Parts: sequence; structure tokens; C-alpha cells
Amino acid sequence: SDVGSQEERVVTEEEWLQKWEMGNIGFHKEQVHPLLQKYLDVLLNGRNGLRIFFPLCGKAVEMKWLADMGHSVVGVEVSEQAVKEFFSEHSLPYCEEPVPEISGAKMFQSTSGNISLYCCSIYDLSSSIVGKFHGVWDRGALVAVNPRDRQRYASLMINLVEKNSSYLLVTVSYDPNKHKGPPFYVPESEIKSLFG
Ligand code: SAH
Repeated sequence: SDVGSQEERVVTEEEWLQKWEMGNIGFHKEQVHPLLQKYLDVLLNGRNGLRIFFPLCGKAVEMKWLADMGHSVVGVEVSEQAVKEFFSEHSLPYCEEPVPEISGAKMFQSTSGNISLYCCSIYDLSSSIVGKFHGVWDRGALVAVNPRDRQRYASLMINLVEKNSSYLLVTVSYDPNKHKGPPFYVPESEIKSLFG
């Protein structure tokens, strides 16, 4: 498990925006992730009306799926195109407003109020802006974070969750010497050191 080959690799926000513009979004899936279905009970733990956070959300269809169950979903995504495609592909009316605490950021909210997507970098968020969450769905998020930013990302995530929260994390197991990522290879030992 020599992860040295990926440690220095950086994908810039500009490159992510370009992926969206080019339609180079193989990570996006039209069906609810089978692991979310499998572990839904772990995420919800018998609770209703949870606040669920989607870091680096893209236009993940699971946001609509959980909102339809009565939960309140908050996502963050740097690509405005992704955010707009989410609402239009689900035919959800939304409104758009600036986020006073973050210069240049916008918040897109479904008219029904239960889905709020922040269009900015995740590193601009804090619990004073978005509050705290009962659950997190982290798929294509930690594994998309540049390796050098992982510690900062994990500290922020820990700060954004309530005490009795559930954090579902999907990682990808492969030989990091053969692919440059993302998704990056995040070994289990590193997950333990990041999240304890
Ligand atoms: N979780 C989604 C998308 C995964 S791809 C899914 O399951 O489909 C990673 C996403 O993170 C991309 O849409 C990219 O535009 C976004 N992204 C990358 N860096 C970001 C950052 N610093 N802040 C917010 N979003 C970011």
C-alpha cells in the first residue's frame, strides 16, 4: 500500500468545473447507491426528520431520495452547473440567494425548503453557517479531496456533526500506483487516523 505516488497530486476547483462543463462526470450515478440502501438503517438509526449533509455533493440523486423520506438535506458543491442540473433534472423549483458570510457563495434552496445546496468550496463552510448534522453521506467526497487537504477536510466534517450522528463513508480499494485518481486511494489506517 504505497500511496506515495498520489500524495502530491492536486485537482483544482477549476479542473472540477471543467469536468462538469465537458460532461466528464463518470462519477455521477442515476440510481441510489446500493450501499446507502443497504446501510440506510445505520444512517437513520430509527430517527425521523434528520438533517443530513452531503459534502462535495455533485448532483447526487440520493439527496432527493432522502428528502422525499422527510429528511432535510444540505449539500455543498463548487460547480453551479451541477447544482442547477440537480434541481432541473428532478423538476424541483428553487430559489437562489447569496450567503452573507461567504463572499461569492450562493445558496440554492428547493421551494419546499428541504434541500439546500451551497455553491462554494467546502472549506468556506462552518457550523455557524450551516449548523450541525445528524447524518453524513460521504461518497465521492473524501476520495475526491486532494490528499494534502484530507486532515483539514476531516476536522471540518467532525465539526459539522452532532454528538450522536452517523457518518457513512464510501472509499475505493485499488492499487494507487496504477491510477492517479480521483477517486484517491484512502487506506483504512488513514481513515482511522483522520476520524478516530
Ligand atoms: N458526491 C457526488 C459527487 C462526487 S465527485 C456523487 O456521489 O456523485 C466530487 C464533486 O466535488 C464534484 O462535483 C466537484 O465539482 C466537487 N468539488 C470538488 N472540490 C470541491 C470543494 N473544495 N468544495 C465543494 N465541492 C467540490
